[in-house]
Amino acid sequence: MIKRLINMLTGQPSKKMSGPLRISSDEHNIDLGQISPCAARIISTLHQAGYEAYVVGGAVRDLLLGFVPKDFDVVTDATPEEVRKVFRNSRIIGRRFRLVHVYCGRDMVEVSTFRAPHEASNQKDRKGRLLRDNTFGSINEDAIRRDFTVNALFYDPRSEEVLDFCGGYVDTQKNLLRIIGAPVQRYREDPVRMLRAIRLAAKLGLTIDPKTKSPFKKQAGLLDGVPTARLYDEFIKVVKSGALAMAVEQIVAFGFHSALFKKLADAKAQSKEGKFLRLVYEKTDQRINSGKSVSPAFLFAAVFWPEVDKKWNYVESDPKYMGALVRAIDEASVGLSQTFIPKRLIADIRDIWYLQGRLLNRRGKKPSQVLRHMKFRAGYDFLELRSFAGEVSEELVDWWTRFQDIEPEDREFWLENNTKLGGAEPKKRVRRRSRKKRNTETSTDP
Ligand code: ATP
Ligand code: MG
Repeated sequence: MIKRLINMLTGQPSKKMSGPLRISSDEHNIDLGQISPCAARIISTLHQAGYEAYVVGGAVRDLLLGFVPKDFDVVTDATPEEVRKVFRNSRIIGRRFRLVHVYCGRDMVEVSTFRAPHEASNQKDRKGRLLRDNTFGSINEDAIRRDFTVNALFYDPRSEEVLDFCGGYVDTQKNLLRIIGAPVQRYREDPVRMLRAIRLAAKLGLTIDPKTKSPFKKQAGLLDGVPTARLYDEFIKVVKSGALAMAVEQIVAFGFHSALFKKLADAKAQSKEGKFLRLVYEKTDQRINSGKSVSPAFLFAAVFWPEVDKKWNYVESDPKYMGALVRAIDEASVGLSQTFIPKRLIADIRDIWYLQGRLLNRRGKKPSQVLRHMKFRAGYDFLELRSFAGEVSEELVDWWTRFQDIEPEDREFWLENNTKLGGAEPKKRVRRRSRKKRNTETSTDP
C-alpha cells in the first residue's frame, strides 16, 4: 500500500499495482450531466452487454481542470469486433490502432479497447521507438501506456467515480503535467510526447514537472526521426490550441523547431520580422479563442511571408512590381516544398502572397477581377494583418473593406470616384451590407 502510494506520487506505475485510487463524486468536480449523451449511452449499452467501459483521457482531464472537452473517448475491455457487434451504427477503423467509431445520429465517439504497453523488443526499433501498439491489456496496463498522468484517468458514469492508477488526480489539483514512467524511455518510444507536453501545458495552463521537462533539450533531436505527416498533424493541433504564441516560445526554447520549421525561431528576434510573426501567433490565438477557424495555409503564408517580402523589395514607383513579387514567390516556394507543409497547401499559400501585389492596384477593371479571385478573402485578411504590423496603410485595407460592400452594378461608378478613399462619394446611393453579415457569409476566412 505504502509502495503503491510512493509509486503514484513519483509517477512510477507498478505493474503489480492492483486497484486504482477511487475518487468519489463528493471529492471531484465532474457532474454526470457534463458527459456527452452519446458517450454516456455507449457506456451504458456496453455495461448491459456485460463489458467494462469508461470515459478516458482528454475529456476526464479537461473536466477536472474546468475546461469544456473537445471530444469524449471511451475505453472498454470489449475487443473491437465485440464492440462492433453491440452497436449496429459503428465501424472498425485503423490498422496500427484498431478502434471503433460508434455513431449516435450525427455524434460520434471513439471506442478503444484497453491496450498494454510494449516491452517485447521486437515491437520497437533500434532507437526504442514503438512500431506497433495494438496488444490488448487490462485497465491498469492501459493507464500506464498513456503519456501523462492527467491523461490516464477513467471516469465511470455508473458510480460517478474517477479511477486513478498513476497519481493523475492529485496532478490535476496541482496543475501539473507529468509523464508516466521513465521520461527518456517514454520519449524514445514516441518523441511526439515532448511536443504534446508543450501543447497541453500551454493550452491548459499546466506546469510541466521538472523531471518530465529536463530531458527535452537533449532529446530534441529524436523529433527528426518522426514521420513528417505526424509532425504536421501535431503542429496543426498546436496552431488550433489557442495558445500558439506561448507554445512557439517553448518549442524554440527547447530546440524542437529544428524538426518543425527553423522559421519559428525568428519570432524571438527583435527585428521587424520577429514582431510580425509574434503578431501572427497572437492574432491566431485570438481567432481560436473567440471560436473562429484558422486555415493552415493562411498561417503558413504568414510564417514565411517575411522571406517573400524581403525578396520582393516592393517600391511603389517600380512598374514591374508584380514580376518582382512572382520571382520572390517562386524562390520562397522552393523552401516551402522542403518543409513538411503538404503540397496541396502550397498553391493556396502562393495565392495569398500573389494577392498582396494585386491588392495594390485600385484602377480600372482590376479590383473587380481581384474580388472574384478564389482566395480573395484570405488575401484581404492577410493584407489587414500586414496593416496591423505597419507594412501597408490602413487606408488601403479600408478601401477594400468598402469596395467589397458595393453592389456589382455600382462598382464601376464607385471606382471612378474612389481610386483612393477620400475621393468623391458616389452620386448614386449604394446599398451596403454590414461588415458583420459579410463575415458570416464568406467561407475563405483564415
Ligand atoms: P486533446 O484535447 O488535444 O484531444 P487528448 O489528450 O485527448 O488531447 P488525443 O490525441 O485525443 O489527446 O489522445 C487521447 C488520449 O490518448 C490521451 O489523453 C492519452 O491518454 C492517449 N495518448 C495520446 N497520444 C499518446 C501518445 N503519444 N503516447 C501515449 N498516450 C497517448
Ligand atoms: Mg482527445
